[in-house]
Amino acid sequence: MGSLGVDAVILGGGCIGASVAYHLAEAGLTEVLLLEADTLGSGSTSKAAGGIRLQHGDPLNVRLAQRSLAELVAFEQLTGVDIFLRQVGYLFLISSPSDLAIFDRSVALQQSLGVPVRVLSPDEAGELVPQLVTGDLVGATFCPSDGFATPEAVVQGYATAARRSGVTIRQGERAARIITAHGRVAAVLTERGERIATPTVICAAGIGSRAIAATAGVDLPVSAERRRIFFSSHSGGISSDVPLTVDFATGFYFHREGPGLLFGGRELTAEEMMAPAMHRLPVIADLPLKSTWHGDYDMSPDHNAMVGHSAHLSGFYYATGFSGHGFQLSPAVGEHLAELVTGRQPSIDLAPLRAERFADADGNRVEPIVI
Ligand SMILES: Cc1cc2nc3c(=O)[nH]c(=O)nc-3n(C[C@H](O)[C@H](O)[C@H](O)COP(=O)(O)OP(=O)(O)OC[C@H]3O[C@@H](n4cnc5c(N)ncnc54)[C@H](O)[C@@H]3O)c2cc1C
Repeated sequence: MGSLGVDAVILGGGCIGASVAYHLAEAGLTEVLLLEADTLGSGSTSKAAGGIRLQHGDPLNVRLAQRSLAELVAFEQLTGVDIFLRQVGYLFLISSPSDLAIFDRSVALQQSLGVPVRVLSPDEAGELVPQLVTGDLVGATFCPSDGFATPEAVVQGYATAARRSGVTIRQGERAARIITAHGRVAAVLTERGERIATPTVICAAGIGSRAIAATAGVDLPVSAERRRIFFSSHSGGISSDVPLTVDFATGFYFHREGPGLLFGGRELTAEEMMAPAMHRLPVIADLPLKSTWHGDYDMSPDHNAMVGHSAHLSGFYYATGFSGHGFQLSPAVGEHLAELVTGRQPSIDLAPLRAERFADADGNRVEPIVI
């Protein structure tokens, strides 16, 4: 890479940007520069709960999740980094007949695509997690290949492998502007005033995507939604292989993390969080809180990701707006962007995820995610 420029500049070093860097290198493009404003993984990625599930409500997200899980299972072999993948399953708890009807349809779809998911009775859910209150449930779903992993390790694994292949990563270097000429990407201007010539920009800046894309005249309607997670110092006897359990009605979820539990939901304080948590898992009242942090979901208007290339600005690619599940989809999304940038046939057609769907009422749409 000389001072003249690079083949592609990736904006953002979270799980998405790092995955793009890795997959571009795998596709043979190594004159690539990744600019990260802070440190690798420091955005939403390092705040995530690490959940990975094949249980999605539409075929596109199921396929993305299947392709991603396959890469996460092989991750250590591919990159040399252990991501602490725990395939303990995801258990969704359902307490209303109308929600159960939605889940029944989703399970039928998932099974038709080869997902090993099944519907459980409340008693069967209680057998999996004896500490749960199950009396008010009408059912549950369980997929044993789901689970969780460590998001920062995924970022470091992708970044290490990408560097090994020649990709350059600069941390503490914010992109200030994308410079365009004649309907094409021409360069990226850094906050320090350096101009990096490039025909290709991949915007993976998380909640910062809207601001940096706007400098190129591209609208990516991503917004931040704050979420908090909590860590207890003890597990209350909850087994080390307990599934990642989600109470669908309230959003309360938990999984084992070290000697204790990680749990979260829609509430932003421990006091508010305790009501839905104790309703479903009374033992949680006895577990001392050890720590807590908050982060931002990168939300899109329809809660589906925005992935693709701009119809109006040649050389501008993007992936953002994952609305709470960007970590688990990062492998397949990075692969897809690398395919687009290098002109290969995409493994999955992600045209329905293009951001133009928000501008064009007749544009392709994917069904809203129900779980
Ligand atoms: C509490 C919580 C729990 C979550 N749990 C899960 C979960 O269980 N499973 C799951 O799949 N997802 C989960 N998520 C969502 C997931 O974290 C995100 O969807 C995902 O991390 C998005 O990755 P990203 O790489 O797009 O964004 P980020 O990780 O935010 O990375 C974007 C990076 O871009 C950098 N940046 C911004 N602007 C610029 C610029 N101008 N120039 C250079 N760099 C820039 C930022 O510093 C940042 O590091 C959770 C999120 C939160 C907050």
